Amino acid sequence: MIEILTATVWATFLGYTIWYFTLAKHYAPLTLEEAQVLWKIHKQNAKCQSTKWRKIKKGGKIVGFECECGYRHIQKRPIAKGTPAPNIQTNVSAIYKKLHKT
Ligand SMILES: [Zn+2]
Repeated sequence: MIEILTATVWATFLGYTIWYFTLAKHYAPLTLEEAQVLWKIHKQNAKCQSTKWRKIKKGGKIVGFECECGYRHIQKRPIAKGTPAPNIQTNVSAIYKKLHKT
């Protein structure tokens, strides 16, 4: 019970932290995993058959991606907004795992 509560609090806190830090910047930097997730969302939404994508970088940070089909996505808002809920959970848990690995 407490473990579930702790995990929930952690996820909320992490989500808020990410939201807070990305909101302060013009571009919202993405991790490689996030860019990949967004590309997969694009493929699903657009029924895109492409197998390749490339990172769009700004100041050494990934801010978006360009799909093989020519679709470009630049993340200007925090990832928590405008993406469906299951994807936020995927991102948060991925970051959570990353933080606890080191
Ligand atoms: Zn595409």
